[in-house]
This record gives sequence, structure tokens and C-alpha cells, in this order.
Amino acid sequence: MAPIRIAVIGVGKIARDEHLPSIARDSRFELAALVSGSGAQAPGVPTFRDAAELYAALPDLDAVAICTPPSARPALVREAIDAGVDVLMEKPPTPTVGELRDLAAHAGAAGRVLFTTWHSQYNAAVEALRDRLAGRTLKRLAITWKEDVRRWHPNQDWIWETAGFGVFDPGINALSILTRVLPEPAFVRSARLLTPSNRAMPIAAEIAFTSRALADGGEMTAVFDWRQTGDQTWEIAADLADGTALRLTGGGTTLAVDGVTVEDAPRHEYDRIYARFAGLVASRDSHIDTAPFELVADAFLVGRREDVEPFED
Ligand code: NAP
Repeated sequence: MAPIRIAVIGVGKIARDEHLPSIARDSRFELAALVSGSGAQAPGVPTFRDAAELYAALPDLDAVAICTPPSARPALVREAIDAGVDVLMEKPPTPTVGELRDLAAHAGAAGRVLFTTWHSQYNAAVEALRDRLAGRTLKRLAITWKEDVRRWHPNQDWIWETAGFGVFDPGINALSILTRVLPEPAFVRSARLLTPSNRAMPIAAEIAFTSRALADGGEMTAVFDWRQTGDQTWEIAADLADGTALRLTGGGTTLAVDGVTVEDAPRHEYDRIYARFAGLVASRDSHIDTAPFELVADAFLVGRREDVEPFED
């Protein structure tokens, strides 16, 4: 079968670190072009300043991966669907839940494949945790996602703006694991949104959830914090009602049960994302998962904004 001719739109950190290498490793794809406002280059392929130029120049293009910040994505996705190509979307997919639903309907009506990626879901340890939670009741589940914003998002001003998501940009990765592994949905009961007084979006958040997966008196919480220097923490601790202690660490790469590591696979998230996209393109199915996104939206709906000290990069 001929490879899927794909262009990458928005060539920043994630496009360079993950998308371009995964596309290069996967023989089911052929990189056809870049679209880059800043003129980023890749060997052997043209760079276009905007997507309209891309579609005009390459009528045989099959797909695009949209790796811009979320604010730019709705217009780019609609333009891609109208140009007749399939679409892979980085997370978070859009600024609002409504826009994602609108794009899903548009892709469906046009017969194009739309794929909302949540990269943290593509780890073997996440699947292992899901298997161990199936049909079980939880006494406690605690998400701790603490990292240094200056290390991971240097000078990304967009991330502090509305539709930039603030600390929910990494936090949504934890929520995408939560929605993948829980046997019953979680709902946001309350949230504190700790927001620098000079920024629109939070630098830290504390969320309490309810869920039918919890035993009576059980607790489900998440703490996201961008102010952690030194060791970085991306973990989910789940204690079952029967006393079993499950610990997912390393952002979803390692699972321990009662202190014994049962799954510890290297991170191949983006290779798996592209394998999945190749399958969707072949079967002409979309995969649109709104669940992590709805939890973020609900946290902002019921959350209480609390001002904290100003943040300067
Ligand atoms: P980034 O380094 O700031 O790159 C984003 C790129 O998008 C820019 O370099 C620019 O590329 C293009 N762009 C188009 N419109 C833009 C706008 N209004 N503002 C800024 N850039 C614009 O960001 P990133 O870290 O790659 O993140 C992009 C998306 O990937 C985000 O949704 C993020 O949540 C997700 N993501 C990031 C990571 C990570 O580790 N950084 C991990 C997983 C997912 P051109 O100049 O080429 O047009």
C-alpha cells in the first residue's frame, strides 16, 4: 500500500521532539511538507507559510498532524477537512468543548478521519492499570502531577493565555490516563485554581472528584503544580478496597503493585499514536475522545480562582 502522505502544521517543540521522528520511523507514513509561520525546515520536503498554500501545492496530500497550540487548531482542522485530508490533532484538541463537537460533526459529514490524541494514554503501564481496575472498587486515588514550568515550557507565552490551559496543559495528560483507566466515570466535585495575579491561567490546581468507582467514604483527588523544581513527579496512586496498592509513575510508564514493578516499558507514545492513526486512516474511522477535555472544562466551571504571586518566565 502507498504510504500516507502527511504534512506537519506548526513546527515547535512537540513536532520536533516527537512527531517528525515518529513519522520518519513509520514506513506507513511519508512526510510530504511542513507548514510553519517561522519557516522551520526538514530535509527533502517543502515548507509552506500557511495551510492554504500547502493544499494548493500538494493536491495528493492524505493527512495533516496539527501541532500548534490549541487556539489555532479549530480553524486549521476545518480547513484541512475542507481540503479533503485526514487529521491528527495534538492535545488539548481545541479551546472549547463545543468547537471539538462541531469539528467532529464536520469530519463525519465530510467522510474525513479525525483523531484526538492523548499521548499519555499510549503506554503499556496505563493499559495494565486499566486491566487491574476493571470491575474493582477504589478506596483512594490520588493524582500528583508536579513539574517545573520553566524547564518544560520556557517562554511559551500562549500557555498562560485563555485557551492556553496553564497547568492543565500537563494536567490534562493525567486526566487522560484517569479517564482511560477508571471502570466508572469521574466527575469534578470542586477545584481550586491557583492563578498568578499577572496571568490568565492557573499555575497550580487541586481537584476533588466523585465516582461510582469509589467505595463509601473513598477519595479521589488531583494536584497539579508547575512550581516544582528538582525531582519531577507524575504519578497516580490507587488503593483498592481490598488493600492492593497500585502506583503508576513516570507519567504512565511504570506500574507497581504492592511495591513490586509489574510493567516498565520505555516511552513509545508517539510511535503508538502514529500506528493507531495509520489504522484509522485504513479503516476510515475517527477516534474522538472528549472525556479528559470535559474534566478540564468542568474544573473551570466549578473551580474557585485564587490569586497567587505573579509569575515571570
Ligand atoms: P511550541 O513549542 O510553542 O510550538 C508550537 C508551534 O505552533 C510554534 O512553534 C509555531 O510553529 C506554531 N504556532 C501556530 N500558531 C501559533 C500561535 N498562535 N502561538 C504559538 N505558536 C503557534 O509548543 P509545543 O510545546 O510544541 O506544543 C504544541 C502543542 O503540543 C500544545 O497543544 C501542547 O499541549 C502539545 N504538547 C506539547 C508537549 C511538549 O512537551 N512540549 C507534549 C505533548 C503535547 P511555526 O512557527 O512552525 O508555525
